[in-house]
Amino acid sequence: MKNSDTDVIQVRYWDYRDNYQQHREKILDVVDKVFSSGRLILGSMVSEFEEEFSAFCGAQFGIGVNSGTDALFLALKALNIGAGAEVITVSNTAVPTVAAIRSAGATPVFVDVEDDTFLMDVTRLEQAVTSATRCILPVHLYGQAVDMAPLLQLAANRNIHVVEDCAQAAGALYQGKRVGSFGDIGTFSFYPTKILGAYGDAGMTVTNRPELKERLKRLRFYGMEGGYYSEEEGYNSRLDEVQAAILKLQLPELNEEVMGRAKLAAIYNEGLRGLGDVTLPVVRDGRTHQWYLYTIRTGRRDALMQHLTAAGIETRINYPTPIHLMRGYRFLGYGEGSLPVTERLAGEILSLPMYPQLPESHAERVIEAIREFFQGH
Ligand SMILES: *Cc1c(COP(=O)(O)O)cnc(C)c1O
Repeated sequence: MKNSDTDVIQVRYWDYRDNYQQHREKILDVVDKVFSSGRLILGSMVSEFEEEFSAFCGAQFGIGVNSGTDALFLALKALNIGAGAEVITVSNTAVPTVAAIRSAGATPVFVDVEDDTFLMDVTRLEQAVTSATRCILPVHLYGQAVDMAPLLQLAANRNIHVVEDCAQAAGALYQGKRVGSFGDIGTFSFYPTKILGAYGDAGMTVTNRPELKERLKRLRFYGMEGGYYSEEEGYNSRLDEVQAAILKLQLPELNEEVMGRAKLAAIYNEGLRGLGDVTLPVVRDGRTHQWYLYTIRTGRRDALMQHLTAAGIETRINYPTPIHLMRGYRFLGYGEGSLPVTERLAGEILSLPMYPQLPESHAERVIEAIREFFQGH
């Protein structure tokens, strides 16, 4: 559903310009430093940010790449996962998760999700494993970690790799450790909307294994280690100096920004409690939520969304169609009804406005409008 140009949006879903206004001078300052430095590609900003971001994740190495999609693709390549290999993941995710698996030449195998956290239901993994399974690819969706302990146990028992898609959950804790540090490789996106956002495309892979670090560094740079000589077939997927410089500037703010998000989540939780047909997001014990998205569930989603739009409140559906039912991925052979929880959620979920600079008064307005909808009907 789209607002027509004549509708006035009063409560915006997200807008990076609030971040820009807040940090404008510092951003322009580092951009100027990079532009004046004489080095625009793979310089000190990238290597410093790689070090700082991997340390933040509790991983030993960081390898900056061009996007979160490339991070996933190169992670699979680095683990030699390609044609003939099955990668177990979820259909309830952003398209790039699946696009990256396909780019690597592998076959995605979907398991259903939990209906309260919207995350991979790890109790379904065992029955999805075949002799072709090479990797489990959990997606820490909306800002909360998948239940990693049983997943890692199964992967270790069966000798299967684990690549974590952390695009929406940078910094999220699971049993005291940050996402990205559990699997063979963790992948991140710094797409502008993400909780740590660049001013353009950017991504990162993190790992604790030195040989994977070396491989990832080669793969992102035509397979070269230096000179004009490819050690192996590679790609071009570099993180820009100027994006790295902006990200380096924003990283120390991340915790505070997430606290801002958590405060808004608490306001939503409090204000929306006790409405009959609304299920609020669930945070499991032993995990933190980064509140990339605040997503509620209701059987009257479309009508509620319309009501909020009319009230000048922007909302989104993340995601309206499960990937296995999209025309572009029908060929994978999953029909309607094959992932019932995922399919039901797509018709019931609604993401409310959520970004650190969203005024609390706006969150209150969203709450009021939602209460009005359920109490007035
Ligand atoms: C954003 C996102 C990606 C892809 O990141 P890009 O930087 O846009 O390529 C991958 N997976 C998930 C879950 C995402 O949300």
